[in-house]
Order: sequence, then structure tokens, then C-alpha cells
Amino acid sequence: MKNIILTGDRPTGRLHLGHFVGSLSQRVELQNSGKFDEIYIEIADAQATTDNADNIEKIRQNIIEVALDYLACGIDPKKTTIFLQSQVPELCELTFYYLNLVTLSRLERNPTVKQEIKMRGFKTSIPVGFLTYPISQAADITAFNANIVPVGDDQLPMIEQTREIVRSFNSIYGETLVEPKAVLPENETCCRLPGLDGKAKMSKSLGNCIYLSDSPEEIEEKVMGMFTDPNHLKVTDPGNTKNNPVFIYLEAFAKEEHFKKYLSEYKNLDELKAHYEKGGLGDMKVKRFLNDVLQETLEPIRKRREEYQMKIPEVYQILLEGSQKARKVAFETVTKVKNAMGINYFEDLDLINQQTLKFAKSKGDNTKNN
Ligand code: ATP
Ligand code: MG
Repeated sequence: MKNIILTGDRPTGRLHLGHFVGSLSQRVELQNSGKFDEIYIEIADAQATTDNADNIEKIRQNIIEVALDYLACGIDPKKTTIFLQSQVPELCELTFYYLNLVTLSRLERNPTVKQEIKMRGFKTSIPVGFLTYPISQAADITAFNANIVPVGDDQLPMIEQTREIVRSFNSIYGETLVEPKAVLPENETCCRLPGLDGKAKMSKSLGNCIYLSDSPEEIEEKVMGMFTDPNHLKVTDPGNTKNNPVFIYLEAFAKEEHFKKYLSEYKNLDELKAHYEKGGLGDMKVKRFLNDVLQETLEPIRKRREEYQMKIPEVYQILLEGSQKARKVAFETVTKVKNAMGINYFEDLDLINQQTLKFAKSKGDNTKNN
């Protein structure tokens, strides 16, 4: 079996630190490992319409931002196919057939969708497309025969839904689709990076993000204004590092060499945490260190992004070529799916012969009776 990766992002904003640790940096590593036969990254613009139907302009504006973030992080279009979901209509076709393999109550049980519905304040006015987006995600994954999907943990219910659809399809129509596996980041903190406000998830829709393209000044301002332990009022107070996003970000980004370079009185994060928990370490000092770490991490990304920003038509060309390639592969899967389902009428010579014989026979019977 081939090893094929598919992942993607909604073009609802620029990409942030959560994307970087949750999925993007892993994608670049996997891409450069040379262990994969094919890698696809989808900019899920069609999915983004499910909660932005009245604001398509937002999606139009952000496609290029997401593409720039990919290229800036080291996604190489020679090794990875970057494509736009809306430009591969075969994905809609697959979705249409998969819709019948899932019940409404199953969709309503999806914990991520449930949480997103609450977050978006849909109450009872849930767009049908929004509720069914996990099914269209199954179409995206299976269209490319992906067996590996690197994601943050909010996506686990989506991959489970895809696996159920694959099993259901294969058991009704015969072995056709590949069952995918989610791959989470090794560092648990990176599975769901919290927001600057301490909320459970850094998310474009919540506006609690440090973006990969933020300027050095913006990064510093955001870090300095971050939520920490509200009970750590005086430097001497013992502090909590557990629900404290400053320490969670350090967990995700700080390496021993950062300590050597910027905060050499501590060897590693464990020592820094121990001091904060005991008392005697101020928030400002920790935040300044986090700022140094993030500035160092994001600087090369920002520089590469600035280079690509100078050649926007080339970036659109990358997306066009990627979409054309993706379309070819998705078409092959749709053909396989339709063959398996028996809705390939014009290529099905057996069916045509069978119908010919049936009517010839009934004509013969009629002639005899007369
Ligand atoms: P939106 O708010 O529009 O849903 P988002 O910020 O959740 O945007 P998505 O495009 O939905 O971003 O997510 C793309 C990928 O990034 C998914 O694999 C998701 O798991 C991962 N991801 C998003 N936010 C985080 C986060 N805070 N921590 C870790 N991974 C994340
Ligand atoms: Mg999301």
C-alpha cells in the first residue's frame, strides 16, 4: 500500500501558532522525510463557506494568506500538492454519496461540531452544510486514498467519522476506499494549543492568536499582554504553571538551546517551572523569555513569507497546478466509487446487454401471445 498524506486548513484567516505546532511543522517534517509517496494539502475553501455563506470575500482574501503561510513554513510545491477544495468538484460528488451512509443523530453527536456550533452561536439555525462538513472531509481524505492525516486533536472525531464511512461503503459496495489514520503531534501540548486568552484553543474564529505572519512588535505586544495565573499577583507568590498559557507555549516551543541563549540561569523548562511554582519568579521575566523564543522561531518564517509576497501570481499558479493534479486523482477515485456502486451505466456493457435481452425477450413473449 502507498503511504499518502492529506491535511488541510480552512482559509478563514492567516495561520497561527496552533496550526504550526498542531499540524504544519509536522507536515514539513513528513514532507522532508521522503517516506511518503504522495502528500496533499487542501485549502478547504468550500468547507469555509459552511459558516461563512454571507461572507465569501473573507474566504477569497484568505486563500492566498494560507498559501503564503504554507510556503513560508517550508511546504515545497515540488514535493507536496497544494490545492483548492472548490476547484475539485469530484469532492462534492463523493460527498453526495457518502451523505447517505451517515445518520443525522451520528452527525449531531460529533463533539467538535457540537462545540463549534455553540461557539458560533448557531443555536437551532445550524446551516445544513455546517453539520455535514465532517462528511465532506471524508470525501477529501478518501478521494486521495490518504492513509495518514496529521492533525490537532479537535480533528479526531472527523477522522473517526471518515473511518466509519469507509467501513460502511466497503461493506455495502465492496473493498474500494482506504481507511485513514490520524497522526497527532508527539508533544501533547501541541495537540491543542490554547489561546492567548487562556481559552481551550487558539483559533482564527476566536481572535486569540499569534499569527505566523505577525510583526516582531505585534508578537511582543501579544506575549506581554498574555493571560497567566490570576493568583500570581506578587513576584513572591507561588504560581501555577498548569493552566498558564505562557508555560504551555514554552512547553511547545522552548528548546534547551533557547535557555542557553536567553535565560542561562535555568537549564530547562522544568527548572523554570519549579521556580515559578515555588514563588519568586515574576511573569514579566517568563514572558520576556517566551517572546525571545517566539521571535527566533518566527523570524525565518516571516522572511520567507515576505519573499513569496513579492511573487503573488506565482503562488496562484502553484495553487492552479496543484488543483489540476488533485482533480485528476479525485476523478480516478470517483470513477472507482461509481463502478463499485454500479452507477457507471454507460461503461457497464453487462447492464446494456441484460436490458437488451430483457426487452427482446418481452417482445418475443408478446409476439407469441398474439
Ligand atoms: P477556524 O476557527 O476557522 O475553525 P482553526 O483555527 O480552528 O480555524 P482550522 O483550519 O479549522 O483552524 O484547523 C486546521 C488544522 O490545524 C487542523 O488540523 C487543526 O487540528 C489544527 N489546529 C487548529 N487550531 C489548533 C490549535 N490551537 N492547536 C493545535 N492544532 C490546531
Ligand atoms: Mg477549526
